[in-house]
Amino acid sequence: MQPSDDIVYLKGVGPSRAKVLAAELGIRTCGDLLQYFPFRHIDRSQQSTIASLHDENQYVVLRGTVSNMQTVSTGRYRERLTVDFSDGTGTLQLVWFQGTKWVREKLKPGVKYLIMGKPAIFNGQWQMTHPELEVCSGECVVDSTRGQVLPTTHYPLPTNFLPVYTTTEKMKQHGLGTRAMARLTETLVTSLGGIDETLPKEVISRYRLLGRREALITIHYPDSMQQLDAARTRLKFEELFFMQLDYQWAHSERQQHSAGRIFASVGDYFNRFYNEKIPFPLTGAQKRVIKEIREDMRSGHQMNRLLQGDVGSGKTLVALMCMLLAVDNGSQACLMAPTEILATQHYNTFLTMLDGLGLNVELLIGSVRPADKRTMKQRIASGETHIVIGTHALIEDDVSFRDLGLVVIDEQHRFGVEQRSKLWAKATPPPHVLVMTATPIPRTLAMTVYGDLDCSVIDELPPGRQPVRTYHRTEPNRPKVFAFLKQQIDAGRQVYVVYPLIHESEKLDLKDLIDGLEMVQNYFPRPQYHVSMLHGGLTAEEKAFEMQRFKQGLTHIMVATTVIEVGVDVPNATVMVIENAEHFGLSQLHQLRGRVGRGGGQSYCILMTKDQLSYASQERIRTMCSTTDGFQIAEADLRLRGPGDMQGLQQSGMLDLKIASIVDDEPLVAAARNEVRDLLATDPTLAAHPMLQDYIRHSKNKMLWGKIS
Ligand code: ADP
Ligand code: MG
Repeated sequence: MQPSDDIVYLKGVGPSRAKVLAAELGIRTCGDLLQYFPFRHIDRSQQSTIASLHDENQYVVLRGTVSNMQTVSTGRYRERLTVDFSDGTGTLQLVWFQGTKWVREKLKPGVKYLIMGKPAIFNGQWQMTHPELEVCSGECVVDSTRGQVLPTTHYPLPTNFLPVYTTTEKMKQHGLGTRAMARLTETLVTSLGGIDETLPKEVISRYRLLGRREALITIHYPDSMQQLDAARTRLKFEELFFMQLDYQWAHSERQQHSAGRIFASVGDYFNRFYNEKIPFPLTGAQKRVIKEIREDMRSGHQMNRLLQGDVGSGKTLVALMCMLLAVDNGSQACLMAPTEILATQHYNTFLTMLDGLGLNVELLIGSVRPADKRTMKQRIASGETHIVIGTHALIEDDVSFRDLGLVVIDEQHRFGVEQRSKLWAKATPPPHVLVMTATPIPRTLAMTVYGDLDCSVIDELPPGRQPVRTYHRTEPNRPKVFAFLKQQIDAGRQVYVVYPLIHESEKLDLKDLIDGLEMVQNYFPRPQYHVSMLHGGLTAEEKAFEMQRFKQGLTHIMVATTVIEVGVDVPNATVMVIENAEHFGLSQLHQLRGRVGRGGGQSYCILMTKDQLSYASQERIRTMCSTTDGFQIAEADLRLRGPGDMQGLQQSGMLDLKIASIVDDEPLVAAARNEVRDLLATDPTLAAHPMLQDYIRHSKNKMLWGKIS
């Protein structure tokens, strides 16, 4: 068989199973089946004994004989068959609900069987339902889930390792359980025709990789665990290599074809700001990042850069200075933030910092009065406005710029790809783009997805910051927690109390919040204490009003939902209480905690949870209490949730890896990345590698790159 052959022609498949394989697993050709890797292997030589069983749901292999077969009717046409299986150390009951007639006919007392499956305890006794079994040294293999006898010569491959495949209910109904799948892969590998090598020779020899054909057969039918490892490594490397090739190729294409305006000079606005206005010296990291961005903006290519910096690392100032560079070069710049609160806050910061420079700065958000909006849009279109701060109101069709040169997007994960690309279209050539995020991307992910390119990191906090101290508390501790809040407030500090959105219904969430508010108000009565409430149901003005009062110190405690999650900057707030903290994800907890610790004083974060926590919740809480480093938290998050759930990457579908894991295979990710980088450096058009050129020509992933920034 050839990899390109339709699966329907593989012996044992046929039209109806071919349909099921295509529908359930997308397997249409023999090559697809070959790439359907087993998720594990059973080592038939590693046999357990019944007496030593201790774990339910652990796959085991047992050797023994059957006796005492019993059939119980469980309804019309239905019966249950039970058989005692003994291996000399104990007895376990085998149970069948289906195919009972057939099993009854085949099972013979006195014959030694090998059974495989997951035992469970039922009524105090070990049981195994629908085990796989085969005759030990006899003449046949019995597939008891399907009702078929196969000669043992059907296992010609000299291996003790049986592949186990993931199968679905639907597949099982069509006789495609894991053993049946194994028979198919076996038929395939024993009759397999040409398999082309895909990796360059020098790469194979440098990493001593198995050849492609050998790896593809071995991964299904290894002789040893070492061999299995070698096969997996080869296939992982291949997968990562081609992923890198996709990204890096697309990146260099874009570099060559995306003309961008050239911001050649550092002008007056930038210099005056830097010399006269800047409120504090830049950190080393801020300086470095501004330089990187500046290089991009005068390279002649359109910049598309990701700026990562932990909460509080001072991204806003970097954005502002880059925007001044754009204005210095005759362009306009805009900053888009995900919420009105945040946009308003940025606007106020900009107004203060840029005061006296003679720049026109506007705030364009949904709640601006229509008449004002109209004139504002006119000023933007005429070029009178230099800098616009806004929300997604910025991307509305009737907002046009005279010459938009730089777009900065704050907290990029909050925006969809389409929303962002609308901003691209507002100028020709397209504006430079800087996206900022406080949700760090773990190193491996950055290497994978960004190929390390176009990614700047502010890895240093402004001086004088003390790490936020984080504690985990439960309901019985509440009086103490509140007493602590009182102490902080009496010392002139302010406090956030945050509730998650748990319920599907807004009403219920609001109820949690209001109950919380009441509890807080009872403990902190007026007139001595002022408590306010902030949630998504308020109008923009109400929100702005409450934020303003809190900022001015008129309220002591803000009870809020996650509307305050990103960006809010009130340095005097030093305590963050997160209620039902087990309901938050790690990056969200980190973001919320980032709301405190922004001034000079010691800040605290208190994670309130219920008593009993799931493993994942415990891990999240433990991580939060043990580190404030955003990158460590991102790594933990990646580990706990897997890359599929990482913010911003969900829609991209770029990390659908078959076998490699960017969490566990970091060294391979790095190796593949370097190989591709060197390859493209020495052979930029891949002229010396026609095979790879061909791959690029047919690659489906080609343009995915553009989706992520
Ligand atoms: P984020 O990166 O989370 O957006 P911000 O830009 O809001 O951080 O900055 C956090 C705080 O740090 C702000 O109050 C800002 O004024 C201050 N800040 C920024 N850069 C510096 C610096 N170089 N030195 C001291 N404080 C700074
Ligand atoms: Mg920010």
